[in-house]
Formats: sequence, C-alpha cells, structure tokens
Amino acid sequence: MKNVYISVVTPVYKCAECLDELYTRLIASLRSITNNFEIIMVDDGSPDNAWHIITSLATRDKRVKGIKLSRNFGQHYAITAGLDFAKGRWVVVMDADLQDQPEEIVKLYNKAQEGYDIVVGKRVERKDTFIKKITSKLFFTIYSYLTDTNIDGSISNFGIYSHKVINSLKSFKEHTRSFGLFAIWVGFTRIEIAIEHSNRKKGKSSYSIKKLFVLALDSIVSHSDKPLKLFLTSGFMLSFLSFLYAIFLVIQFYIFSIPVTGWTSLMVSIYFLGGIIIACMGIIGLYLNKIYDEAKNRPLYIIAATTFKE
Ligand code: UDP
Ligand code: MG
Repeated sequence: MKNVYISVVTPVYKCAECLDELYTRLIASLRSITNNFEIIMVDDGSPDNAWHIITSLATRDKRVKGIKLSRNFGQHYAITAGLDFAKGRWVVVMDADLQDQPEEIVKLYNKAQEGYDIVVGKRVERKDTFIKKITSKLFFTIYSYLTDTNIDGSISNFGIYSHKVINSLKSFKEHTRSFGLFAIWVGFTRIEIAIEHSNRKKGKSSYSIKKLFVLALDSIVSHSDKPLKLFLTSGFMLSFLSFLYAIFLVIQFYIFSIPVTGWTSLMVSIYFLGGIIIACMGIIGLYLNKIYDEAKNRPLYIIAATTFKE
C-alpha cells in the first residue's frame, strides 16, 4: 500500500481479548477520516494468545500489520518497533487495552489540522487506580523539578504525531526509552487536548509498583544530571558549614576555655557523612550503569515474525 495517510501504532502485552474490539472501534473511527490507514500491532512477547489474534486480524484485513518481538522488551521498545514500520503522514500512538479510546482519534486529528505537529491527549479524569495516580503524581513532581520542565501525570502517550516528528523520534537510539518524554524533547508545535480516559475493562495494568519505580528512576537518571549537581553543591555546603563549626570550636576553646567535648558528636558526624558519601557513590554508580548500558549498543528490539513482507 502506497502513501498511507494514518498509521496507528499500538503495543500489545496481555489483553488479547481487547484486540477484536480495538480493531472494530479503530476501523469505525479511522474510516471517518480516511480509508488509507494502517494499524500496526506490536506483540511485545505477550504471554496470552495475542499473536494468534493479531495474525487472524491481519489475514482478514491487510491494513492490520502485526509485528512479533522475540520476547517482552517493554512498552516503549514495542512502540519504537512499531514506529520504525509506520509509513503514515500522521501516526497515532495508543495503548491496546482500550483505556485510550479509538473514537478520540478523530478529535486529535482535527486539532492537528489546525496546524500542530503533535497533539497529545490530556486525561482530564484519569481512570487508573488510586496508587497509580499518586505514584504518577509523585514521579512527575520530582521529574519536573529535576529536569526543569513542567509536565504532570495527566499527559499520556496517546496522541497524533506528524511524520516530521516521527522521523526525528526514529533517530533516538538511546536505550532508556520513554516515548512521551522524547516527544516533549523534540519540540515542534505541540498542544494538549482533553480526552476521555477509560477504565481497564479486562485484565489489570502490567505495571507493578516495582516496575514503575525502576522506570521512574531510569527516566530521571537518563534525562537529568541535576542529582549529580545537587550532591556537588551539598558537598561544598557541608564543607563550608564544618569550616564555620571549626571556627566556633576554636573560639570556644581559646576564649571561653571550654574544652572540646564530644565523642557523641564525632560518632554522629562520621555516620552522617559516611551515609552521604555512600549515597553519592550510589548516584554516580547509577549514571555509570547508564553509560555502560548505552555503550553496549545492543539492538533496541528483536523481531521474531511479521504478518507482512517489507
Ligand atoms: N505494554 C507493552 N509491554 C509491556 C507492558 C505494557 O507493550 O511490557 C503495553 C500494553 O499492551 C498497553 C500499554 O503498554 O498497550 C499500557 O500498558 P498497561 O495498560 O498495562 O499500563 P497502564 O495503562 O497501567 O499504564
Ligand atoms: Mg492500561
């Protein structure tokens, strides 16, 4: 198919039972814009029968293109794989579990026609669990502070992106990946519009608290060097304070003749400083590990099968 107008890229991991409905609703929604579209479903090593469903959808409708990764790489890698094959003039990225509603694509598309390269959905009312909302809020507060940006948890990956944006996103070869954060970094004309977010109807989120924590730490370390700078400043501050303290002790000793007391304060300072030093080394270790990861330069994803020929 030549000159695809809209590509929809969706990573699939658990929620095979969502795919039929996703397909039907996508068709209905996309049809009102163009008939010239493709739906790229990337099976991210889903443990259920997702690939079976994707292949049967693809045999029925050639506009559905399936890509099967060799194992579970993670949502953002799956999106990367999908984008590498997307040919559309416009590309929509969305979750496969129907929390991002296919009907909203029309809204995103219409907004983009007013002259935007990126139109991202803002979840006015986020239909996620309480814990998820709280942790997400915490993450974005820390993230915004450390990267001097201003974003919050209502922004999702769900959006429409022009091929110019997608082309620049394709040049991101780094291994710690966050599609949403990359899409902010690239710039272009961007707008966020309110969209409806839906509950997860089947199955539950594949992100555990532990997985979210690792992702949050990774994103922060790879997008910000502020922790390093903070430790540098606090190191100097501490030395400066101890210098003042030394002056204070000397005055106490020579002028007021108060002998230096202090096994307790000595022990406290040793442990306090020891703790800070170990923490600093830990932070440096995190960055070193990131450099190591990038230096290995492994492929971002490995494809096991596709339903189409390139
Ligand atoms: N996903 C993926 N690989 C993973 C985890 C998730 O491709 O390892 C996809 C999943 O299929 C869905 C999207 O990422 O389309 C969001 O995942 P989920 O609904 O589990 O997370 P949440 O909605 O809680 O953010
Ligand atoms: Mg979900």
